[in-house]
Amino acid sequence: MKAPVAVNGYGTIGKRVAEAIRQMPDLELKGIVKYTPDYSVLVAYRQGIPIYVPKGKEGVFEEVGVKPSGTVDELFGSVSLVVDASPGGKGAQNKRVYVERGLSALFEGGESPDVAEVSFSTLCNYRQALGKKYIRVVSCNTTALLRLICLLDRHIGVRKARAVIVRRASDPKEDKGIVNTVKLDPPSIPSHHAIDVKTVLPDLDIETVALIVPTTLMHVHVVHIQTKRSTSIDEVVETLSSTPRIVVLEGAKIGIDSTSKIVEFARDLGRKRYDIYENVVWRDMIKVNGDELTIVQAVHQEAIVIPENIDAIRAALRLAESAEETMRVTDKVLNVGL
Ligand code: NAD
Repeated sequence: MKAPVAVNGYGTIGKRVAEAIRQMPDLELKGIVKYTPDYSVLVAYRQGIPIYVPKGKEGVFEEVGVKPSGTVDELFGSVSLVVDASPGGKGAQNKRVYVERGLSALFEGGESPDVAEVSFSTLCNYRQALGKKYIRVVSCNTTALLRLICLLDRHIGVRKARAVIVRRASDPKEDKGIVNTVKLDPPSIPSHHAIDVKTVLPDLDIETVALIVPTTLMHVHVVHIQTKRSTSIDEVVETLSSTPRIVVLEGAKIGIDSTSKIVEFARDLGRKRYDIYENVVWRDMIKVNGDELTIVQAVHQEAIVIPENIDAIRAALRLAESAEETMRVTDKVLNVGL
């Protein structure tokens, strides 16, 4: 029997998680919660996704041609777990309902870590999340940093990490953002990314600096790592390539020297919405000098956390006992690996 799951918060992350749940052989999307009848509900409805709305609001949805399948209460009464992908801070408010109903819940990176029992990264701490009722999937930048650091630590050993994070100003659907500036965000060292990485790896020596630039496409990280022993470019490439969640591209040789070209590559490969689930590491931008390692990677903020959300559902509901077991299914179904 498939595990019944709901998505509360159907925006950039929620719609992608919902779509991924529908493809998984062991999960069933019972429905999504919508509060306002915007264009996204029309798309969901046309795709046959059951829509649940607050009691008394059914008429507002029927006016735009959407017939709700029931109320939020009914949906929450029929699932084992809710993925809460509401805007940062709202998940903590919604948690009261999940607690009252005894429902397991996933929260996203915009929530404070104390919303959950564990902050989650598949490659770092899958087992720690097994059977936990409340799990927080860390943000896009943190997910990418953790994949890299945990993999390198397992194979080579990481003594410390320093990263500059060049952040996109807003998501493509958003009509807001900076226009002609580079903004320190946050204006402090470390940025919240290092603090977030430490929610999963509390003993790691890490500092991060973050800057926002006027783009919507992807983030770019410049990561300096001191390894516990000398390494080589070949060993680093082999280590990173051991998971499909990190892709090492011969960037400059094939003309991919910008985030716009990575996006075009993904579009030409037929990726829906150009969703890129992988850390994209430039092979030409890996430099090793003994125990000093520099890596430059691009991160598609809208998509990178989707595989981890699916894995976290399996951890909470104990549908897979190890990271390898869940990743085998998630990565195959989502076709992870460019
Ligand atoms: P979004 O604004 O695109 O979507 C949020 C959705 O939740 C909207 O449809 C909104 O109508 C709905 N909503 C509003 N109030 C709600 C409530 N009280 N309960 C339930 N739903 C409500 O936001 P997003 O970008 O998808 O972000 C969701 C979470 O994912 C945040 O914690 C964010 O930090 C995190 N996240 C975002 C990104 C990204 O790049 N967008 C990447 C990784 C993680």
